Amino acid sequence: MTLFPDLITAVCGESIIGRAAEAGILSVNAHNIRDFSKDKHRRVDDTPYGGGMGMVMRPDPIVDCFRAIKAETEGMKRRVIYMSPQGALLTQKKAKEYLVYDNIVLLCGHYEGVDQRAIDAIVDEEISIGNYVLTGGELPACIFIDCVSRMLEGTLASPECYEEESISCGMLEYPQYTRPVEFEGARVPEVLQGGNHAEIAKWRYRAALEKTKRCRPDLL
Ligand code: SAM
Repeated sequence: MTLFPDLITAVCGESIIGRAAEAGILSVNAHNIRDFSKDKHRRVDDTPYGGGMGMVMRPDPIVDCFRAIKAETEGMKRRVIYMSPQGALLTQKKAKEYLVYDNIVLLCGHYEGVDQRAIDAIVDEEISIGNYVLTGGELPACIFIDCVSRMLEGTLASPECYEEESISCGMLEYPQYTRPVEFEGARVPEVLQGGNHAEIAKWRYRAALEKTKRCRPDLL
């Protein structure tokens, strides 16, 4: 649910998530909250009660938009999430919990945010993508969609693709190399050029550990 549906369809229609949608693994539908405005100028925001800066998104078009989605997705196991800097932080572990839902409804706020009554009426939880504030919930929603969708069966080649990556595996991933074997004087480590899988695994483990100690000691 958004005021800028084109932003969502543009981002989610590309690359791996776009291909997964084409293959029918998931479907991303951007619903324009403005279509549910009863105002003759299609306004969806108003000034805040009590005064203050900026505008607040009205509750009525949001709740009507949600009811339309609900009617289309009757019987589905659903979770309604408001993308918000006030929410719990999105982590890889948390993202995995959403794989059990058939229908995830993401509410994207804008301006000063959303009237509290809309949140109370329809939202199950608030999710933040980080401790900073953005202008709208569209980019956070796309990040959420990308993060969860790549763990859906069939999006990537196999579950190892995301399970053996940084964070999921409990530390950062080892450095990756491809051709050419020498680039501006820097060579691909010798061990990776040979076929000794045990030695390669040992090298990768050590390199991953070293990088994690250096960059993200909190993970260890
Ligand atoms: N006035 C609000 C506050 O102080 O909590 C911030 C509103 S923010 C400018 C506008 C919208 O951007 C929010 O309603 C939310 O949907 C989205 N947003 C901003 N930062 C976010 C974050 N870190 N994670 C998720 N959504 C965010």
